[in-house]
Amino acid sequence: MTDLAALFKISYGLYLIGAKKENKENACINNTLIQITSEPLRLLLAMNKGSYTHDLVKATGQLSVAVIDQRADMSFFNHFGTKSGRDIDKLEGFPVLFCSNGCPSVEGNICALFAGEVEQTIDVGSHSLFIIAVQEAAIKSDYEPITYAQYRNLKNTGSIEIIKTEKKEYKYICTVCHYEYDGDIPFEDLPDDYKCPICGVGKELFIKV
Ligand code: FE
Repeated sequence: MTDLAALFKISYGLYLIGAKKENKENACINNTLIQITSEPLRLLLAMNKGSYTHDLVKATGQLSVAVIDQRADMSFFNHFGTKSGRDIDKLEGFPVLFCSNGCPSVEGNICALFAGEVEQTIDVGSHSLFIIAVQEAAIKSDYEPITYAQYRNLKNTGSIEIIKTEKKEYKYICTVCHYEYDGDIPFEDLPDDYKCPICGVGKELFIKV
């Protein structure tokens, strides 16, 4: 028995792959990207040979990989996921940004961006596996990446709960032993009898820095 619904239990992210050849720029949605090595930093991407972006990557060896975040709505996925760059300029009307290798991506709806060069291509029939050497990596927003399961939920229900990474603007430090409080409960909400776990002094001897 082969129950293909089992495939929905594999965790994936969603990515916007950008490429450029001469004056033709394009981007498409992809869900099959993994990091394979850290030194040097390499990613592995499987791309359907039928996609126009695949042809641009194959021809130039250059691409951008953006991690789509939870702000993206169905119109974004439909636009980049179902239309073909052979027929229309998919980036028209979007705030386009360019990576150091000249490959396009978009501002907004992405939380991280990589630019890279194809080191090796493995032909697996319907798809090419691109092994990518990363030249550039950047955080682009504080929003969490959207998972494939969340995308399916968005598609079925029209919405998902958006999570934004909390940025701590300050920290609390014990003035006696310099222990830095890093608990999940905000320091202000700790009970009055809270004691420094290192030297045992009370909350009043912590300072906000
Ligand atoms: Fe202390």
